[in-house]
Amino acid sequence: MLLLIPGPVTTRPEVREALCVDIAPWDPASRDFYARLCARVLALAGGRDGVHAALPLPGCGHFIIEAAIRTFLAPGEALLVPMTGAYSERMTRLAVEAGRRVVPLPIPDDRPAAPSAVAAALAADPTIGHVGMVYSETGTGICHDLPTIGAAVRQAGRRMIVDAVSAFGALPFDIARHPEVDAAVFTANKCLEGVPGIAFAVARVDRLEESAGNAGSWSLDLTDVYAHQVENWGTARFTPPAQVLNAFDRALDLYETEGGQPARLARYEANMRTLYDGVRRLGLSPYLAEDAQGPIIVNVHAPADPAWNLQVFVDALKRRGFLISNFHNTLRPSFRVGCIGAIAPADMARAVSAMGQVLEEMGIRRREAA
Ligand SMILES: *Cc1c(COP(=O)(O)O)cnc(C)c1O
Repeated sequence: MLLLIPGPVTTRPEVREALCVDIAPWDPASRDFYARLCARVLALAGGRDGVHAALPLPGCGHFIIEAAIRTFLAPGEALLVPMTGAYSERMTRLAVEAGRRVVPLPIPDDRPAAPSAVAAALAADPTIGHVGMVYSETGTGICHDLPTIGAAVRQAGRRMIVDAVSAFGALPFDIARHPEVDAAVFTANKCLEGVPGIAFAVARVDRLEESAGNAGSWSLDLTDVYAHQVENWGTARFTPPAQVLNAFDRALDLYETEGGQPARLARYEANMRTLYDGVRRLGLSPYLAEDAQGPIIVNVHAPADPAWNLQVFVDALKRRGFLISNFHNTLRPSFRVGCIGAIAPADMARAVSAMGQVLEEMGIRRREAA
Protein backbone atom coordinates (compact mmCIF):
# COMPACT_ATOMS: atom_id res chain seq x y z
CA MET A 1 0.00 0.00 0.00
CA LEU A 2 1.36 3.43 -0.93
CA LEU A 3 0.37 6.31 1.34
CA LEU A 4 -0.46 9.26 -0.89
CA ILE A 5 -1.47 11.37 2.08
CA PRO A 6 0.78 14.27 2.92
CA GLY A 7 2.12 12.66 6.09
CA PRO A 8 2.78 10.31 7.67
CA VAL A 9 4.36 9.28 4.41
CA THR A 10 5.35 6.04 2.75
CA THR A 11 8.74 5.04 4.17
CA ARG A 12 11.53 2.87 2.86
CA PRO A 13 11.88 -0.68 4.32
CA GLU A 14 15.32 0.21 5.75
CA VAL A 15 13.64 2.93 7.84
CA ARG A 16 10.97 0.59 9.19
CA GLU A 17 13.59 -2.08 9.96
CA ALA A 18 15.38 0.37 12.24
CA LEU A 19 12.35 0.23 14.54
CA CYS A 20 12.91 -3.43 15.38
CA VAL A 21 15.48 -2.99 18.16
CA ASP A 22 15.44 -2.47 21.91
CA ILE A 23 17.27 0.66 23.01
CA ALA A 24 18.38 2.02 26.40
CA PRO A 25 18.29 5.82 26.00
CA TRP A 26 20.69 6.57 28.90
CA ASP A 27 23.42 4.18 27.82
CA PRO A 28 26.63 5.97 26.71
CA ALA A 29 26.26 4.67 23.14
CA SER A 30 22.74 6.13 23.03
CA ARG A 31 24.02 9.49 24.28
CA ASP A 32 26.52 9.61 21.50
CA PHE A 33 23.80 8.73 18.99
CA TYR A 34 21.38 11.35 20.36
CA ALA A 35 23.94 14.16 20.29
CA ARG A 36 25.02 13.20 16.78
CA LEU A 37 21.41 13.16 15.55
CA CYS A 38 20.76 16.65 16.94
CA ALA A 39 23.93 17.92 15.25
CA ARG A 40 22.80 16.34 12.02
CA VAL A 41 19.42 18.09 12.13
CA LEU A 42 21.10 21.39 13.00
CA ALA A 43 23.36 21.10 9.96
CA LEU A 44 20.39 20.34 7.68
CA ALA A 45 18.78 23.62 8.75
CA GLY A 46 21.98 25.61 8.16
CA GLY A 47 22.37 26.15 11.91
CA ARG A 48 25.70 27.06 13.48
CA ASP A 49 26.96 25.58 16.74
CA GLY A 50 26.48 27.97 19.62
CA VAL A 51 24.23 30.28 17.57
CA HIS A 52 21.43 27.86 16.82
CA ALA A 53 20.20 24.63 18.42
CA ALA A 54 18.21 21.65 17.15
CA LEU A 55 15.73 20.69 19.86
CA PRO A 56 13.83 17.40 19.68
CA LEU A 57 10.39 17.15 21.27
CA PRO A 58 8.54 13.83 21.34
CA GLY A 59 5.19 13.94 19.60
CA CYS A 60 3.58 15.46 16.55
CA GLY A 61 3.74 18.73 14.66
CA HIS A 62 1.06 20.44 16.73
CA PHE A 63 3.11 19.87 19.89
CA ILE A 64 6.21 21.55 18.52
CA ILE A 65 4.21 24.47 17.06
CA GLU A 66 2.60 25.04 20.45
CA ALA A 67 5.99 24.71 22.15
CA ALA A 68 7.50 27.38 19.87
CA ILE A 69 4.59 29.76 20.45
CA ARG A 70 4.68 29.27 24.22
CA THR A 71 8.46 29.59 24.37
CA PHE A 72 9.06 32.65 22.22
CA LEU A 73 5.92 34.71 22.86
CA ALA A 74 5.36 36.14 26.32
CA PRO A 75 1.88 35.45 27.71
CA GLY A 76 -0.57 37.91 26.13
CA GLU A 77 1.82 38.86 23.31
CA ALA A 78 0.37 39.26 19.80
CA LEU A 79 1.06 36.94 16.87
CA LEU A 80 0.26 38.01 13.31
CA VAL A 81 -0.90 34.95 11.36
CA PRO A 82 -1.29 35.20 7.58
CA MET A 83 -4.38 33.03 7.07
CA THR A 84 -2.99 30.61 4.52
CA GLY A 85 -5.53 27.85 5.20
CA ALA A 86 -6.16 24.89 7.49
CA TYR A 87 -2.75 25.01 9.19
CA SER A 88 -2.81 28.75 9.90
CA GLU A 89 -6.15 28.08 11.62
CA ARG A 90 -4.50 25.39 13.70
CA MET A 91 -1.65 27.72 14.65
CA THR A 92 -4.24 30.31 15.62
CA ARG A 93 -6.06 27.90 17.91
CA LEU A 94 -2.82 26.72 19.52
CA ALA A 95 -1.80 30.34 20.21
CA VAL A 96 -5.18 31.44 21.53
CA GLU A 97 -5.52 28.43 23.84
CA ALA A 98 -2.01 29.16 25.14
CA GLY A 99 -3.22 32.67 26.07
CA ARG A 100 -1.50 34.56 23.27
CA ARG A 101 -3.33 37.16 21.16
CA VAL A 102 -3.72 36.39 17.45
CA VAL A 103 -4.08 39.05 14.79
CA PRO A 104 -5.30 37.16 11.70
CA LEU A 105 -4.22 38.53 8.32
CA PRO A 106 -6.79 37.43 5.71
CA ILE A 107 -5.19 36.52 2.38
CA PRO A 108 -6.53 34.90 -0.82
CA ASP A 109 -6.47 31.08 -0.62
CA ASP A 110 -5.34 30.52 -4.21
CA ARG A 111 -1.99 32.28 -4.34
CA PRO A 112 1.04 32.91 -2.13
CA ALA A 113 0.83 35.51 0.67
CA ALA A 114 2.03 38.96 -0.42
CA PRO A 115 5.01 40.21 1.61
CA SER A 116 3.62 43.75 1.23
CA ALA A 117 0.46 42.68 3.09
CA VAL A 118 2.57 41.32 5.96
CA ALA A 119 4.62 44.55 6.04
CA ALA A 120 1.45 46.69 6.05
CA ALA A 121 -0.11 44.66 8.88
CA LEU A 122 3.04 45.02 10.98
CA ALA A 123 3.25 48.76 10.30
CA ALA A 124 -0.41 49.17 11.30
CA ASP A 125 -0.07 47.42 14.66
CA PRO A 126 3.06 48.06 16.72
CA THR A 127 1.83 45.68 19.46
CA ILE A 128 2.54 42.66 17.21
CA GLY A 129 5.82 41.05 18.24
CA HIS A 130 5.85 37.91 16.11
CA VAL A 131 4.62 36.58 12.78
CA GLY A 132 3.52 32.93 12.61
CA MET A 133 4.03 31.73 9.06
CA VAL A 134 3.11 28.39 7.50
CA TYR A 135 5.81 27.80 4.88
CA SER A 136 4.04 25.04 2.94
CA GLU A 137 0.28 25.24 3.57
CA THR A 138 -0.76 21.62 3.40
CA GLY A 139 -4.43 22.65 3.27
CA THR A 140 -4.16 24.37 -0.11
CA GLY A 141 -0.88 23.04 -1.54
CA ILE A 142 0.64 26.53 -1.81
CA CYS A 143 4.25 27.13 -0.76
CA HIS A 144 4.76 30.67 0.49
CA ASP A 145 7.73 32.88 -0.30
CA LEU A 146 9.63 32.58 2.95
CA PRO A 147 12.70 34.65 1.92
CA THR A 148 10.67 37.75 1.01
CA ILE A 149 8.18 37.43 3.86
CA GLY A 150 11.11 36.94 6.23
CA ALA A 151 12.74 40.08 4.81
CA ALA A 152 9.55 42.07 5.47
CA VAL A 153 9.46 40.83 9.08
CA ARG A 154 13.16 41.63 9.50
CA GLN A 155 12.75 45.16 8.13
CA ALA A 156 9.86 45.74 10.53
CA GLY A 157 12.09 44.63 13.41
CA ARG A 158 9.77 41.79 14.42
CA ARG A 159 10.34 38.08 15.08
CA MET A 160 9.03 35.04 13.24
CA ILE A 161 8.02 31.44 13.95
CA VAL A 162 7.90 29.18 10.91
CA ASP A 163 5.68 26.11 10.63
CA ALA A 164 7.88 24.19 8.23
CA VAL A 165 6.24 20.84 8.99
CA SER A 166 5.36 19.96 5.41
CA ALA A 167 8.26 21.95 3.93
CA PHE A 168 11.45 21.04 5.77
CA GLY A 169 13.71 18.69 3.86
CA ALA A 170 12.16 19.50 0.47
CA LEU A 171 11.92 23.30 0.31
CA PRO A 172 15.10 25.30 0.89
CA PHE A 173 15.59 26.59 4.42
CA ASP A 174 18.72 28.08 5.95
CA ILE A 175 18.22 29.56 9.41
CA ALA A 176 21.50 31.49 9.15
CA ARG A 177 19.89 33.61 6.42
CA HIS A 178 16.87 34.31 8.60
CA PRO A 179 17.98 36.18 11.72
CA GLU A 180 14.32 37.20 12.21
CA VAL A 181 13.34 33.54 12.79
CA ASP A 182 13.22 32.49 16.44
CA ALA A 183 12.36 28.92 15.47
CA ALA A 184 11.42 26.80 12.49
CA VAL A 185 9.58 23.61 13.40
CA PHE A 186 9.04 20.29 11.64
CA THR A 187 8.60 16.55 12.18
CA ALA A 188 10.39 13.39 11.07
CA ASN A 189 7.47 11.95 9.14
CA LYS A 190 6.93 14.30 6.21
CA CYS A 191 9.58 15.33 3.68
CA LEU A 192 12.37 13.66 5.68
CA GLU A 193 10.54 10.33 5.29
CA GLY A 194 10.89 9.03 8.85
CA VAL A 195 8.12 7.57 10.98
CA PRO A 196 5.88 9.69 13.27
CA GLY A 197 6.77 10.31 16.91
CA ILE A 198 9.42 13.03 17.00
CA ALA A 199 9.31 16.75 16.21
CA PHE A 200 12.11 19.31 16.07
CA ALA A 201 12.57 23.03 16.51
CA VAL A 202 15.66 24.66 15.08
CA ALA A 203 15.99 27.81 17.13
CA ARG A 204 18.26 30.75 17.98
CA VAL A 205 20.26 30.32 21.17
CA ASP A 206 20.13 34.05 22.08
CA ARG A 207 16.33 34.04 21.84
CA LEU A 208 16.13 30.81 23.86
CA GLU A 209 18.17 32.48 26.58
CA GLU A 210 15.90 35.54 26.56
CA SER A 211 12.71 33.50 26.65
CA ALA A 212 13.00 31.56 29.91
CA GLY A 213 9.82 31.71 31.93
CA ASN A 214 7.37 32.33 29.06
CA ALA A 215 6.10 28.84 28.40
CA GLY A 216 3.80 28.16 31.35
CA SER A 217 4.44 24.46 30.67
CA TRP A 218 7.36 22.26 31.58
CA SER A 219 6.68 19.72 28.83
CA LEU A 220 6.48 22.33 26.06
CA ASP A 221 9.24 24.70 27.21
CA LEU A 222 11.97 24.77 24.56
CA THR A 223 14.23 26.83 26.82
CA ASP A 224 14.18 23.86 29.20
CA VAL A 225 14.88 21.40 26.37
CA TYR A 226 17.87 23.57 25.45
CA ALA A 227 19.14 23.98 29.03
CA HIS A 228 18.97 20.22 29.50
CA GLN A 229 20.84 19.66 26.24
CA VAL A 230 23.65 21.95 27.40
CA GLU A 231 23.91 20.48 30.90
CA ASN A 232 23.31 16.80 30.16
CA TRP A 233 25.09 16.02 26.94
CA GLY A 234 23.39 13.43 24.79
CA THR A 235 20.30 12.84 26.86
CA ALA A 236 16.66 13.77 26.52
CA ARG A 237 14.74 15.26 29.46
CA PHE A 238 12.20 12.45 29.49
CA THR A 239 12.02 9.06 27.75
CA PRO A 240 12.58 9.72 24.05
CA PRO A 241 10.88 7.65 21.30
CA ALA A 242 14.17 5.78 20.87
CA GLN A 243 13.14 3.50 17.98
CA VAL A 244 11.60 6.42 16.11
CA LEU A 245 14.88 8.32 16.46
CA ASN A 246 16.81 5.29 15.23
CA ALA A 247 14.54 5.09 12.17
CA PHE A 248 14.91 8.84 11.63
CA ASP A 249 18.71 8.53 11.59
CA ARG A 250 18.36 5.85 8.91
CA ALA A 251 15.97 8.12 6.97
CA LEU A 252 18.59 10.89 7.08
CA ASP A 253 21.22 8.48 5.69
CA LEU A 254 18.90 7.81 2.76
CA TYR A 255 18.18 11.53 2.40
CA GLU A 256 21.87 12.29 2.10
CA THR A 257 22.46 9.42 -0.31
CA GLU A 258 19.65 10.72 -2.51
CA GLY A 259 21.33 14.14 -2.71
CA GLY A 260 19.67 16.06 0.14
CA GLN A 261 17.20 18.89 -0.27
CA PRO A 262 17.64 19.67 -4.01
CA ALA A 263 17.23 16.01 -4.99
CA ARG A 264 14.23 15.51 -2.75
CA LEU A 265 12.55 18.64 -4.08
CA ALA A 266 13.18 17.51 -7.66
CA ARG A 267 11.61 14.10 -7.00
CA TYR A 268 8.56 15.61 -5.29
CA GLU A 269 8.17 18.14 -8.11
CA ALA A 270 8.25 15.30 -10.63
CA ASN A 271 5.64 13.41 -8.55
CA MET A 272 3.45 16.53 -8.43
CA ARG A 273 3.78 17.16 -12.19
CA THR A 274 2.87 13.54 -13.04
CA LEU A 275 -0.21 13.84 -10.84
CA TYR A 276 -1.22 17.35 -11.89
CA ASP A 277 -0.97 16.64 -15.61
CA GLY A 278 -2.43 13.16 -15.14
CA VAL A 279 -5.64 14.27 -13.42
CA ARG A 280 -6.09 16.97 -16.07
CA ARG A 281 -5.87 14.28 -18.76
CA LEU A 282 -8.63 12.43 -16.89
CA GLY A 283 -10.82 15.53 -17.31
CA LEU A 284 -10.51 16.62 -13.66
CA SER A 285 -9.57 20.14 -12.50
CA PRO A 286 -6.72 20.78 -10.05
CA TYR A 287 -7.69 23.31 -7.38
CA LEU A 288 -4.74 25.62 -7.99
CA ALA A 289 -3.44 27.25 -11.14
CA GLU A 290 -0.13 25.80 -12.28
CA ASP A 291 1.93 28.77 -11.09
CA ALA A 292 0.54 28.56 -7.54
CA GLN A 293 0.82 24.76 -7.20
CA GLY A 294 3.51 23.62 -4.75
CA PRO A 295 5.27 20.23 -4.85
CA ILE A 296 3.88 18.80 -1.57
CA ILE A 297 0.18 18.15 -2.11
CA VAL A 298 -2.30 18.54 -4.97
CA ASN A 299 -5.98 19.24 -4.32
CA VAL A 300 -8.35 18.31 -7.12
CA HIS A 301 -11.88 19.71 -7.44
CA ALA A 302 -14.58 17.11 -6.76
CA PRO A 303 -16.18 16.27 -10.12
CA ALA A 304 -19.64 17.71 -10.77
CA ASP A 305 -21.17 14.29 -11.57
CA PRO A 306 -23.92 13.35 -9.04
CA ALA A 307 -22.34 9.89 -8.74
CA TRP A 308 -19.26 11.42 -7.02
CA ASN A 309 -18.66 10.13 -3.50
CA LEU A 310 -15.27 10.74 -1.88
CA GLN A 311 -15.28 7.70 0.43
CA VAL A 312 -16.28 5.37 -2.43
CA PHE A 313 -13.45 6.82 -4.53
CA VAL A 314 -10.96 6.44 -1.66
CA ASP A 315 -12.01 2.85 -0.92
CA ALA A 316 -11.77 1.81 -4.58
CA LEU A 317 -8.27 3.34 -4.84
CA LYS A 318 -7.29 1.58 -1.64
CA ARG A 319 -8.25 -1.77 -3.18
CA ARG A 320 -5.79 -0.91 -5.93
CA GLY A 321 -2.97 -0.17 -3.48
CA PHE A 322 -3.17 3.63 -3.14
CA LEU A 323 -4.39 5.35 0.00
CA ILE A 324 -5.43 9.01 -0.29
CA SER A 325 -7.11 11.25 2.30
CA ASN A 326 -10.83 10.78 2.86
CA PHE A 327 -11.43 14.44 3.73
CA HIS A 328 -10.66 17.80 2.18
CA ASN A 329 -9.31 21.03 3.65
CA THR A 330 -10.39 23.38 0.86
CA LEU A 331 -13.42 25.69 0.81
CA ARG A 332 -14.99 23.86 -2.14
CA PRO A 333 -15.20 20.03 -2.16
CA SER A 334 -12.06 18.36 -3.45
CA PHE A 335 -9.85 15.34 -2.99
CA ARG A 336 -6.25 15.64 -1.89
CA VAL A 337 -3.21 13.63 -2.91
CA GLY A 338 0.19 13.91 -1.27
CA CYS A 339 3.28 13.96 -3.50
CA ILE A 340 5.78 13.33 -0.69
CA GLY A 341 7.28 10.17 0.80
CA ALA A 342 9.28 7.28 -0.62
CA ILE A 343 7.46 7.31 -3.96
CA ALA A 344 8.61 8.10 -7.48
CA PRO A 345 6.89 9.50 -10.59
CA ALA A 346 6.28 5.94 -11.86
CA ASP A 347 4.24 5.25 -8.68
CA MET A 348 2.28 8.44 -9.28
CA ALA A 349 1.61 7.44 -12.89
CA ARG A 350 0.17 4.13 -11.64
CA ALA A 351 -1.96 6.02 -9.11
CA VAL A 352 -3.33 8.26 -11.88
CA SER A 353 -4.20 5.26 -13.98
CA ALA A 354 -5.96 3.67 -10.98
CA MET A 355 -7.92 6.93 -10.55
CA GLY A 356 -9.01 6.68 -14.18
CA GLN A 357 -10.24 3.11 -13.66
CA VAL A 358 -12.13 4.08 -10.51
CA LEU A 359 -13.82 7.06 -12.18
CA GLU A 360 -15.03 4.68 -14.92
CA GLU A 361 -16.19 2.12 -12.36
CA MET A 362 -18.12 4.84 -10.49
CA GLY A 363 -19.63 6.10 -13.75
CA ILE A 364 -18.27 9.63 -13.29
CA ARG A 365 -18.78 11.36 -16.67
CA ARG A 366 -19.10 15.03 -15.66
CA ARG A 367 -15.60 15.63 -14.38
CA GLU A 368 -15.37 19.43 -14.32
CA ALA A 369 -15.40 21.15 -10.91
CA ALA A 370 -18.60 20.65 -8.92
C1 LIG B 1 1.25 17.89 9.13
C2 LIG B 1 1.31 19.33 9.47
C3 LIG B 1 1.34 19.79 10.80
C4 LIG B 1 1.29 18.95 12.03
O1 LIG B 1 0.61 17.80 11.99
P1 LIG B 1 0.66 16.69 13.15
O2 LIG B 1 -0.48 15.83 12.77
O3 LIG B 1 0.46 17.38 14.45
O4 LIG B 1 2.00 16.05 13.07
C5 LIG B 1 1.47 21.15 11.01
N1 LIG B 1 1.59 22.01 9.99
C6 LIG B 1 1.58 21.62 8.71
C7 LIG B 1 1.75 22.63 7.63
C8 LIG B 1 1.45 20.26 8.41
O5 LIG B 1 1.46 19.86 7.12
